[in-house]
Amino acid sequence: MQRYQHFIGGEWVEPSSGEWFETTEPFSGHAWAEIAKGNERDANRAVEVAHEAFLSPEWSSLTATQRGALMRKLAGLIEANVERLGMIEQRDNGKLIAEVAGQVRNVAQWFYYYAGLADKIGGEVVPINKADVFNYTKYEPLGVVVAITPWNSPLALTTWKMAPALAAGNTIVIKPSEYTSASILELAKLAHEAGFPKGVVNVVTGFGQDVGEPLVRHPLTAKVAFTGGDIGGQKVNEAAASGLKKVTLELGGKSPNIVFDDADIEQALKGAVAGIFGASGQTCMAGSRLLLQDGIHDEFVEKLKAIVETAKIGDPSLYETQIGPIATRAQHEKILRMIEMGKQEGANLVCGGKALSGPEFGQGQFVEPTIFTGVRNDMKIAQQEVFGPVVSVIRFRDAEEAVKIANDIDFGLAAGVWTRDLHRAFYCVDRIRAGTVWVNNYRSTSFTTPFGGYKRSGIGREGGVEAMKEYLQTKSVWITTDPNRANPFVLG
Ligand code: NAD
Repeated sequence: MQRYQHFIGGEWVEPSSGEWFETTEPFSGHAWAEIAKGNERDANRAVEVAHEAFLSPEWSSLTATQRGALMRKLAGLIEANVERLGMIEQRDNGKLIAEVAGQVRNVAQWFYYYAGLADKIGGEVVPINKADVFNYTKYEPLGVVVAITPWNSPLALTTWKMAPALAAGNTIVIKPSEYTSASILELAKLAHEAGFPKGVVNVVTGFGQDVGEPLVRHPLTAKVAFTGGDIGGQKVNEAAASGLKKVTLELGGKSPNIVFDDADIEQALKGAVAGIFGASGQTCMAGSRLLLQDGIHDEFVEKLKAIVETAKIGDPSLYETQIGPIATRAQHEKILRMIEMGKQEGANLVCGGKALSGPEFGQGQFVEPTIFTGVRNDMKIAQQEVFGPVVSVIRFRDAEEAVKIANDIDFGLAAGVWTRDLHRAFYCVDRIRAGTVWVNNYRSTSFTTPFGGYKRSGIGREGGVEAMKEYLQTKSVWITTDPNRANPFVLG
């Protein structure tokens, strides 16, 4: 079995505990690698090494253009390793190879984009209402960034943090999910090959409490960028707050996907499928509340059921598979529990609802794609994130009611709106309290535009120029051209 150590200071490092844990293929159920079980000592060491690297001339004296060049080299190495990285990630989290391959190619694009941005974020000369004074602003990196990521899209969600953090001149310590550490360690290896100085990119593996918490609490950690559930995010935020650290939190969602009766139904069906059955529902941006207008409700549910019942479910390493396994046993159990809860609450189970087993499902933890109708927005099945292939269908009368239902929730990550009527579309866009609104599409993302949540879906943004600013701080510089100061006892 393969063994993965921590990657700290440009070297592979044994866990100080001497302990390891297994990582398992969700489809076959086989453990395929051993991962270093980190602890507080490992976490402290990584932050200290990253801090030294931040101050070292090898990194701090590089120009932004030189940092960009290193990042382009890394992007090239990722492109050369797309297949290998994709297979590792697919093996580790059971995501469809068809989706993973595209995601890894996209990871390279994120590095190219931020490589280009590295030397394009300038300050400004600020007009000051005083004579003989010149003032300008400049952006500076924060220091050590701790990136904590989940299991559903490990490489992508790490890159969303790593690319802007490095472009801005920070150093980074990554704590990947305990379920999916391998691809992140491979990424760190490529960063080393690309020529990033030792200690600029570090990975410490292990569990949230053992490694994540000490990383967040370390006094030399300047910023924490976290993607995960809202409960974990809240804990991380509280720990970071006690050290007055900056945070970016990308948390969960329960996003409304709203279909009006004038929508292009075939396209809206594709959007509903992408929204909740894409990535087997294991995506933060899942359109898990499907809001259907009265006039099309029954027809839409029938058609959606027909698509779902013919979906190819099974081995995620085959390109034709459409729905794969649930990544972890705990998540599998949680989904089935929540389906039971939906039934008990009185939601009407249209299809699915059970675990799947049999030769075509290997030893994997599968859940049938599940549709509930008759859901009221105050039910738990409508309010809580399932993170699986389970959709709650909610009826609505008009745009006003759709928006009210869409917003009546603690989350605000994303929303979809399907209509041919521009007025309706803008009515919803302007009123829905979510960080992303897709009109006549769903689950689109790009490195060029910000992504993040309103309300309990998060703090800060990833992607675009805005994300770069999350990893920089502003310095205001005053230069006087006249050394004769006025009264020194009076604020000038
Ligand atoms: P999780 O919150 O359980 O874990 C995320 C990461 O946090 C893991 O690396 C974990 O080890 C670590 N962690 C847990 N407790 C910690 C603590 N006290 N201190 C520091 N680190 C800690 O989430 P998960 O189950 O891995 O992922 C699923 C969740 O992630 C879902 O809620 C999903 O919506 C969310 N998610 C959000 C986005 C987004 O961009 N908004 C993207 C993907 C996933």
